[in-house]
Amino acid sequence: MSLCDLAPAYIRAISPYQPGKPISELAREMGLEEASIVKLASNENPLGIGEQTRAAIESALADIARYPDGNGFELKDALRRRYGVAMDQIVLGNGSNDILELAARAFLGPDREAIYARHAFAVYPLATQATGARGVEVPAQDFGHDLDAMLAAITPLTRVIFIANPNNPTGTFLPGDRIEAFLGKVPDDVLVVLDEAYTEYLGPEQRYDAIAWLSRFPNLLISRTFSKAYGLAGLRVGYGLGSAAVIDLLNRVRQPFNVTSVGLAAAAAALFDDDFLARSYALNRAGMAQLTAGFTALGLEWIPSAGNFVTVKVGNGAKVNQGLLRQGVIVRPIGGYGMPEWLRVSIGLESENTRFLEALPVALG
Ligand SMILES: *Cc1c(COP(=O)(O)O)cnc(C)c1O
Repeated sequence: MSLCDLAPAYIRAISPYQPGKPISELAREMGLEEASIVKLASNENPLGIGEQTRAAIESALADIARYPDGNGFELKDALRRRYGVAMDQIVLGNGSNDILELAARAFLGPDREAIYARHAFAVYPLATQATGARGVEVPAQDFGHDLDAMLAAITPLTRVIFIANPNNPTGTFLPGDRIEAFLGKVPDDVLVVLDEAYTEYLGPEQRYDAIAWLSRFPNLLISRTFSKAYGLAGLRVGYGLGSAAVIDLLNRVRQPFNVTSVGLAAAAAALFDDDFLARSYALNRAGMAQLTAGFTALGLEWIPSAGNFVTVKVGNGAKVNQGLLRQGVIVRPIGGYGMPEWLRVSIGLESENTRFLEALPVALG
């Protein structure tokens, strides 16, 4: 047997994550100018980053010959002040993806199970499978999480339940009181990972405070990111909030320097840039209205979304995606999520949304 055949079967069975196509790659493939390409494929912030954050990045560059603070004191202190949690309730990650991986590594393994919903974020099955645990996929309800079915799927082997709220790629949203009631029913020896990557985009009527639940539910781990509303996707910074005991376990399996010095400094600055966050929120609302009005005008069905993206039914998703790529527009086909008739489109600048809406009928043929 060859070396690679001897890797564990659960590793060999992993199908890799498929990211949005980079602008530079499409430019090479189609012979297009990079500047002419519109990318609405990875739920990035079309405004870029705020001025305060840019200044923090520039000053952090002066010190990049040094290792980062492996304990991330400055950013944790900023999070402590912002959210009123204790320092030992915070773990930092190389993106929140890292937090999901840490949770899987700390609590899963062969002969254990993790539960997640159909059409939920692709990293849950990936992180689960990488530990050798069994992934239990629960059927969706109107493309969202069916919490009762997820409760019913719990067995003595269940160690982790992953919930994304809002969910990616469907944008579906669970009201806070439903999640709170769910937490009250999950056995306290099962970790609930509540992935709030898009929480900053929730409307005032949708907001809820999961952090306030931590004192009642020591088996709750909240995961958040600086990649979306804060615009730092390229720097890879996320964080987890949980009970001190859970956070301590995650820190044991964390790489000593998993967040870069530039990322730490940028995130600490971004956290208090309320003006940038407010502008990002407002742009997203306006862009969501623009795209969904465009879909209505074209007679297309879409799934109401609480995130910074919206999923639209186009028929043959792969074919329409090709038609968009030929016009220099990158969106995300989601056949890998079991939704081959749909495309996920990130909310862009008004001009980018317009480019997409003009290209869409051409691609639909
Ligand atoms: C984008 C996303 C993340 C994580 O992104 P990071 O860049 O790793 O922080 C996590 N969960 C969901 C549901 C996402 O869509």
